[in-house]
Amino acid sequence: MALDSASDTSLLLGREDVPPVLEENAGGSSPYLVTCDHYGRLIPKALGDLGLPESELTRHIAWDIGIAGVAERLSKQLDAHLVAQRYSRLVIDCNRPPVAPGSIPRISEATTIPGNEGLARETVEARREAIFDPYHRRIQEVIDARLREGIPTILVSLHSFTPVYAGIARPWHIGTLYQRDTRLPPLLLKLLRGEADLVVGDNEPYAVSDETDYTIPVHGEARGLMNSGIEIRQDLIADQAGQQQWADRLARVFREIEATLRAQRLLPA
Ligand SMILES: [Zn+2]
Repeated sequence: MALDSASDTSLLLGREDVPPVLEENAGGSSPYLVTCDHYGRLIPKALGDLGLPESELTRHIAWDIGIAGVAERLSKQLDAHLVAQRYSRLVIDCNRPPVAPGSIPRISEATTIPGNEGLARETVEARREAIFDPYHRRIQEVIDARLREGIPTILVSLHSFTPVYAGIARPWHIGTLYQRDTRLPPLLLKLLRGEADLVVGDNEPYAVSDETDYTIPVHGEARGLMNSGIEIRQDLIADQAGQQQWADRLARVFREIEATLRAQRLLPA
């Protein structure tokens, strides 16, 4: 039996919990559809603090620091539909296949997550049904509707990364994140590399794979959409000034890409 969204959320999310999906500019005119899997760091009331101190729940293991502010500003500047997910990836990671080991991490970087130890199958299912499924169902619905109405759609998945991971410093300011699309990522790389002050990663610090990623393979590649992920180093977007600067820069880059795609007839002229 198919579950409707009310019974989905009742398994884990209570009256005081907000819905997992946040949307902005739903009627936006832009071909870009912006997603943000690690937008928030909320934890459902029923799960308490997952056994972690506040200092762990505010760092990058819990969410993509700074990306919410960039996503909202970029969505506004481009007039692009944004679909974002408000709960912490420590509850369930919305960019991992639910069968992947890191879907509900028992250890993240070097931190053990007590609240994720020894979970029963129903508990795992409840997290998926309350958070992961509604988020991805909504992205799917949005893409379905756009395709049905003939609205050109380019998927952009926004993330941020920590400047140091497991003791290793990362030199990049920004990276592209892709697997099969050969249209958008080369344009994005070319324009980002044209920005004199940037060190740009090509599938760095992360690359996409079907085993470790969900949003790009499922909503971008399997649907035949032009797509790319973007990773911004979190210290550059930690405050509102940085978020504004990066949203301005990305809006300029994405507008230029849109014009190029129209000239190449990859978008309607
Ligand atoms: Zn992320």
